[in-house]
Amino acid sequence: MQRHNTEGPGLEVTNPATGHLLTTVRAFHPEEIEPMIAAAQDALPGWSGRTAKDRARILRTWHDLMLENRAALAAIVTAESGKPLGESDGEVAYAAAFVEWFAEEGKRAYGETIPTFAAGKRVLTLREPVGVCAAITPWNFPLAMITRKAAPALAAGCTMLVKPAEATPLSALALADLAYQAGVPAAVLQIVPATDPAGVGRVFCQSPGIRKISFTGSTAVGKLLMAQSASTVKRVSMELGGNAPFIVFDDADIEQAVAGLLASKFRNAGQTCVCANRVLVQSRVHDSFLARLRERVASLQVGNGAEPGVAIGPLINGMAVAKVEKLVVGATASGAKVELGGGRHPAGPNFYAPTILTGVTADMEIAVSEIFGPVVPVIRFEAEEEAIRIANATPYGLAAYFYARDIGRVWRVLGGLEFGMVAINEGALSTEVAPFGGVKESGVGREGARQGLDEYLEIKYVLMGGLSA
Ligand code: ADP
Repeated sequence: MQRHNTEGPGLEVTNPATGHLLTTVRAFHPEEIEPMIAAAQDALPGWSGRTAKDRARILRTWHDLMLENRAALAAIVTAESGKPLGESDGEVAYAAAFVEWFAEEGKRAYGETIPTFAAGKRVLTLREPVGVCAAITPWNFPLAMITRKAAPALAAGCTMLVKPAEATPLSALALADLAYQAGVPAAVLQIVPATDPAGVGRVFCQSPGIRKISFTGSTAVGKLLMAQSASTVKRVSMELGGNAPFIVFDDADIEQAVAGLLASKFRNAGQTCVCANRVLVQSRVHDSFLARLRERVASLQVGNGAEPGVAIGPLINGMAVAKVEKLVVGATASGAKVELGGGRHPAGPNFYAPTILTGVTADMEIAVSEIFGPVVPVIRFEAEEEAIRIANATPYGLAAYFYARDIGRVWRVLGGLEFGMVAINEGALSTEVAPFGGVKESGVGREGARQGLDEYLEIKYVLMGGLSA
């Protein structure tokens, strides 16, 4: 499947489950980026000048090729990111779904006519591609985080450079190879693996040739990219960190709430930006919820994600494990109690055992920062307003989850939560049909859905006069 030039020195890609070197990928230096931007600019008139239907056909073929190569893509994702094969398989379908969705949406990038303000004049809008775009993506969804940027960009008529995360360039390269096979010209979608993300990011932000930057990753890097982009007043889309509350009220269906928490918390070993980060459980159901949760979590199989039956793979690297370890040690030192797990897992140096902590308080570091690991910190609360207050007491505002049955409570809590996405009685909310994104320091803009295309379109207002006889 690999036709892309992946040979060369630079980026070593390892399997986080085994520590084995998979391959070495050619890394691009910051000085090599401007000529690539120039190539993307040269390709722009040709690509944006095609009909939307033509671009849709190519994107549709890309989608089909992804599904035809589903097993091969999933194996690459598991090898370099560590996530269990079943999840990687799901990610291929999820990633392809964005390509299909935007293949269709691109045909509906309608402008409008506006009732005129004066006789003899006509008022209308056109929607045009933003131009050359750049994307910087993370390792936790090495396919989907690219397609939900590249698919709307290409559908809108933009061209794009993508810098994948250092840990997962192989998925990006394989994805791009399929795009080329589908008919995407090489200069329209360029993958730029790099060992110097800061250097490449600076060129992306400061080059006047790039009109828009779309980033998914940490809030710290997002802020840096926004600041750097100010010099060229670039459009930005930012999908940044989260600190998702998962609230279980005393009228919740406990079995469903436990199942939802497992789905939300343990996907990718807890390494997603919408993972439940703080579990708030109302006093009356605290003990019954905990008992059921402990039972279910204890049965999760930890190991190499390539092996059948494994539900929890490794964390991405040793630093990630050290961070989780520090958070758990800090929490227990402040009075939290380990109900399950609580340390590294013998499967290997990058593994952490699924862990449940009780007696966590909202001010502990583990409830304040993104854990990005398989740890459930349980905070006990008494009143509805208290849960809303704790949930909102964070600079983040990406996803929130809650379980309740009383419809008055459902609407009160929904109205009170300051988050871009809220799942009620559901543990998984990502889909290409709905707008994904955050408020506060979790980001700017939305991905997926109708709104995801707008991020790659400019509005041109047209006034035509001199029409009176
Ligand atoms: P994480 O590694 O926790 O997902 P990061 O924000 O560090 O979060 O990484 C997300 C993406 O941002 C990766 O592609 C990474 O290479 C890139 N990145 C990291 N630091 C910078 C930077 N200073 N400028 C531009 N991109 C960066």
